[in-house]
Amino acid sequence: MRIQYKLSITFVLLLVFGVTAISSYSIVFIRGYLMNQAEEDMKADARQLLVSMQLASYSDRPLPEVLDFIGRDSHYDIRLFSEGGELLASTYRASGEQLSTEHLSDETIHAETAYPATYSSNERFFVIEAWAGEQQTGAPMLLEVSRLKDEIYRPVRTIRWIIYSGMFISIAIILFVSFIFSNYLAKPILALTRASQQIADGDTTHSITLNRTDEFGTLAQSLNRMAARLQEDNQQLKIANNRQKQFYADIAHEIRNPLHTISGALEMLDMDKLSAEQRHKYLKSAQNQTERMNRLFKDMMTLQRSDLDPNFLHVRSFPLHEIMENLEQAYSDQARDKGLRLITKGEPVDALGDPDKIEQVLDNLLSNGIKYTSEGSVTMSWEPVNGKVIISVTDTGIGIQKEYIPKLFDRFFRTDKARSRDSGGTGLGLAVVKSILDAHKIEIEVESRPGDGTTFSFSLPLAGKTSASAAGTV
Ligand code: ADP
Repeated sequence: MRIQYKLSITFVLLLVFGVTAISSYSIVFIRGYLMNQAEEDMKADARQLLVSMQLASYSDRPLPEVLDFIGRDSHYDIRLFSEGGELLASTYRASGEQLSTEHLSDETIHAETAYPATYSSNERFFVIEAWAGEQQTGAPMLLEVSRLKDEIYRPVRTIRWIIYSGMFISIAIILFVSFIFSNYLAKPILALTRASQQIADGDTTHSITLNRTDEFGTLAQSLNRMAARLQEDNQQLKIANNRQKQFYADIAHEIRNPLHTISGALEMLDMDKLSAEQRHKYLKSAQNQTERMNRLFKDMMTLQRSDLDPNFLHVRSFPLHEIMENLEQAYSDQARDKGLRLITKGEPVDALGDPDKIEQVLDNLLSNGIKYTSEGSVTMSWEPVNGKVIISVTDTGIGIQKEYIPKLFDRFFRTDKARSRDSGGTGLGLAVVKSILDAHKIEIEVESRPGDGTTFSFSLPLAGKTSASAAGTV
């Protein structure tokens, strides 16, 4: 059932229950009030009639005539009884109804009754007054005044009729108004239901337009925001998914190449007629590719740990210049072989970070500098500035074109694939650099001019007092 109808029915039921409850209570109350009022009036009227009867009894007229005369204009039925309950006179002329005399039992009359006494039958209400005795006979008598209850309650019928006809008119009005109102209420609910169903079905492109400032408006805005967020998340998920697919494809490719080379070299090594020089060449080639695969797996592990391991970093104070010295020593032969000058510039200084990871960063940058420089120099420099130490690795190599710079840190991105592979590159060196620096919440900057060289720079927080024993340029 549509929500409009449910709301309309609810309103009508509430009205019917409400009106019925209030009218029932009012009617019971009014009936009680009318009966009390009637009782008071009848008692007063009975007394009045009694006095009139007493006065009239001084005349010689017979009692029935006197009663007839007095009760003519009264709206009560009046009866006169002897003390023994014998009917002496009556103004009651209606046919059909047998007027009860149960209340005139001996008990009622002879008991120590306080007059005026009241008595109620199913149809009537009676008031009985005692008369000590009339002038003519001197015998005590009872004057009974009665009235149909229906007459007493007649105003209730009118009130009931007014209440119920009012209720039916109200129901009609409420049905009409509630339909319009419930439509007004239900419209946004239906729109929100439709929208949430669409979102649940995966359609996040629609937005709800509800020009309302109430809770429905707020809910619509929240749903719109939720849909936009879901859409954004979906897109990011797709991008991440595509990236992951690309990453696995790249890994497969990166592994296949060295495996081919290794299996080719092994086949050649299996041949008998190889010279010692050739044997050495194939052996070296297989070794190089094995090392490359080793580096590839090491880089992949670093990337995976930086993504997933919350304890990836072990930050502490460490002597930066010592790392620089170690790297200079490690790469000095390689640089010399290529005819390059390897320069380190900086004062002994303690920095804050994970020393092993920072060494890995500098190692990757330095090895790239040497790899992509054919003449000139590669310089590692560091300088404390405003509580930080700015570290740079500068080469005079081939440089990088401007359009490649934004992609430089992407996994397996290379400006020159053949050159990178030939020189043993994994294509993950800079991605590893970025992930380590990201984990330290540090930005890295690249400045490069094709043909002139490249500078990578980043900064680490200074750890305060230096632990170096010897000062001076390293
Ligand atoms: P690779 O193993 O290929 O060196 P990297 O992630 O370390 O992978 O570097 C990505 C690419 O960035 C390299 O293939 C190269 O094209 C470029 N690159 C990195 N460092 C330098 C540099 N110092 N000079 C010129 N190009 C560089």
